[in-house]
Amino acid sequence: MKQRFNKIRVVLVNTSHPGNIGAAARALKNMGLSRLYLVAPKDFPADRAVWRAANAVDVLDQAVVVESLDEAIAGCGLVVGTSARDRRIPWPLLNPRECGEKLWHEAEVHDVAIVFGREDRGLKNEELHKCTYHVHIPSNPDYSSLNLAAAVQVLTYEVRMAALADSEKPRDQLLGGDWDVPPARVEELELYYAHLEQTLVDLGFHDRDNPRQTMPRLRRLFGRIRLDAMELSIMRGVLTGIQNAARRLAVFSASEKSGGEESASEKSSAKKPAGVEAPKDSES
Ligand code: SAH
Repeated sequence: MKQRFNKIRVVLVNTSHPGNIGAAARALKNMGLSRLYLVAPKDFPADRAVWRAANAVDVLDQAVVVESLDEAIAGCGLVVGTSARDRRIPWPLLNPRECGEKLWHEAEVHDVAIVFGREDRGLKNEELHKCTYHVHIPSNPDYSSLNLAAAVQVLTYEVRMAALADSEKPRDQLLGGDWDVPPARVEELELYYAHLEQTLVDLGFHDRDNPRQTMPRLRRLFGRIRLDAMELSIMRGVLTGIQNAARRLAVFSASEKSGGEESASEKSSAKKPAGVEAPKDSES
């Protein structure tokens, strides 16, 4: 059990108050967790953090301080983002119980992370878009935002409850242990999204200066599928194939314009791909 707890990371992004970091460390230790990641904390190390950690200073001492969220979640196969309020694009949402179960079960196969936001502004949209799921503690809608360390306490408690129950519920097929290939890691997925975006730019489908919500929506789509490492590598190959074909087409139409000597049949089959247009998205 302890080994599996060690595969669960709690990530605090850009925390302002060191007291919250200390109180979060205490919450982790109470629930049997120990891996605290701090992304660019405003004031750490700090006496106030040590004071609020009480006897959980070992968790504080082992806390990993990094500069970016990407570093904190590198190597993970599942990332869950916390949110105190609704966001513009709804994302697959877990309640705290489902979140505890998911983190616990997936920690059997890979590292998992749960990410908490800033005291004043929570997580930014682009940070939430790196997460496969979001979790919301169903608090009073008129006063929904918990203190950061209190939110850490609630969600780590649910992980502990899932561990204690270790229910016999049927597992996710992809992650149930029978799958032939491991799930893709977050950093492989980030490379895939960068490749996908570049391919869409090459095709003239996507404009980086006017991106609308295309990439968040595609991230959400692939997050629902949960690609395994082999599927992801096939998709990378498909993208490279598309990019090569687009380049050949561009060279061909350039030579056609400059009066090249292609045959009539080549000319007719070398039209620009039709109907490849970005959808109008009112949320841009
Ligand atoms: N004013 C911020 C709230 C930040 S609260 C906002 O509007 O987003 C600080 C952090 O505590 C949040 O980023 C989240 O990680 C966690 N948190 C607070 N209330 C929560 C809730 N009801 N559900 C899930 N996480 C919550």
